Amino acid sequence: MNMLTDITRKETVSHWIDGAPATSRSPRRAPVFNPSTGAVAREVVLGDAADLDAAVAAARAAFPSWAATPPLARARVMFRLRDLIERHAKDLAAIISAEHGKVLSDALGEVTRGMEVVEYATSIPEVLKGEFTEQVGRDIDAYSFRQPLGVVAGITPFNFPVMVPLWMAPMAIATGNCFILKPSERDPSAALRLAELFAEAGLPKGVFQVLHGDREMVEAILAHPGIEAVSFVGSTPIARHIHQTATAHGKRVQALGGAKNHAVIMPDCDLDRTVDALMGAAYGSAGERCMAISVAVAVGAVADPLVAALAPRVRALQIGVSTDPQAEMGPLVTAAHRDRVRSYVDAGVEEGAKLVVDGRGFHQQGLEEGFFTGGSLFDDVTPAMRIYREEIFGPVLSVVRVPDFAAALALTNAHEFGNGTAIFTRDGDCARAFVHGVQAGMVGVNVPIPVPMAFHSFGGWKASLFGDHHMHGPEGVRFYTKLKAVTSRWPQGARAGAEFTMPTLG
Ligand code: NAD
Repeated sequence: MNMLTDITRKETVSHWIDGAPATSRSPRRAPVFNPSTGAVAREVVLGDAADLDAAVAAARAAFPSWAATPPLARARVMFRLRDLIERHAKDLAAIISAEHGKVLSDALGEVTRGMEVVEYATSIPEVLKGEFTEQVGRDIDAYSFRQPLGVVAGITPFNFPVMVPLWMAPMAIATGNCFILKPSERDPSAALRLAELFAEAGLPKGVFQVLHGDREMVEAILAHPGIEAVSFVGSTPIARHIHQTATAHGKRVQALGGAKNHAVIMPDCDLDRTVDALMGAAYGSAGERCMAISVAVAVGAVADPLVAALAPRVRALQIGVSTDPQAEMGPLVTAAHRDRVRSYVDAGVEEGAKLVVDGRGFHQQGLEEGFFTGGSLFDDVTPAMRIYREEIFGPVLSVVRVPDFAAALALTNAHEFGNGTAIFTRDGDCARAFVHGVQAGMVGVNVPIPVPMAFHSFGGWKASLFGDHHMHGPEGVRFYTKLKAVTSRWPQGARAGAEFTMPTLG
């Protein structure tokens, strides 16, 4: 590993290994774009197995001392980190926005949602309290508690370069593990800024590290014998591969995948509020959210007024550079992704869906090379169409018409994905039946993006999550720790002599 003290950050985004920026012997680099202009803003190191070996060695060296650090002392690092994130929230939002393309206010919201996990992690002394039973047998006590796993890794997607790493790292670190982050190579700079803030908060070196890379680095992580667990967030084919490969190497895995979130719109809903909710949930962050609503299931007579109300709003979307305070939606992350989204709109037209609003022709004046596309709205979409079955991950909303609630529920449940969903209604009985019967991990009632707070846990069902644990909150604590149960008897028991039968209460 070549350590660089004077890293030319503007040109090359480096790793962060053993408490300092570090470059790679690997010559491989990837361009990082400014999505608003389409220009290459910098490049990122694409690391290899040798870089991973260096990071794992530093983490393993740091682990015994960090695991033995009292939970309250670990929590104090989280308190300081929380304050640093709040103080630097605008800078972090600017870094996100510059490489991802989401508008600044949205990026600031992402930072806040990530910070909330750090806030939850400050409660780790309380959360890690174990269980104790006195007198499980005569003069015998039993207790159980949780211990950290060791070195763990997180592999994260482009769409939340601060929030998703913070779903993982504070939980892993507060519970006593050393964490290696492999962020998306498309917007890698925020991870490095997080590393600096962790260091400033007083985290010992080797406890939080960043390794950049692509598939080569991911495969090395999945097979590395020094890594105990892998957390992943990204698309479903990769999530499935991560789960299968890392579990085959004996690791604990939580792998969150893609989504096709349905909003069921009942005829009795408050239409104005529902349309507001759908606009934000479908087109906010240009649809590049795993909790974006991409399917509106219009029940009965609500379909015509719903489409009539949505169409002018979609046409009037304020699209602009990510730093424009008036913009509601920025560009997509790369030209390739923008082209993919447009090709889905082509496919929808070919398959016979009704394209009510066509965003394909949108160009940002003066920024023709930027990765912009407009919002699109489809009506009369059917379950057989690709635009219904597959995740588009762009500003495209599909309206599917169904006759009644039962059909809406059945449609939602038949989809491959089960990340988030929502129902819009004024009827409590209908809402309850939906909450009870829907096959999805996160459900909103008149709430379009029901992302659980940090002290609950985040995760989907079906092809939206592989593994047993959701992220952060109590599930995060369980994922990053293993249970130890102790049965304890003091000298009087020893005086009783050897016992050869199975111990029972007697
Ligand atoms: P992605 O799957 O392309 O990449 C995610 C990570 O995997 C990145 O770090 C990337 O470097 C790595 N990767 C990519 N291709 C790989 C390969 N062939 N082998 C090994 N590693 C590989 O996802 P993305 O495009 O960065 O993010 C968007 C996706 O993430 C969407 O599908 C979205 O729904 C999903 N997502 C899900 C959640 C959730 O909570 N379920 C949250 C955010 C994003």
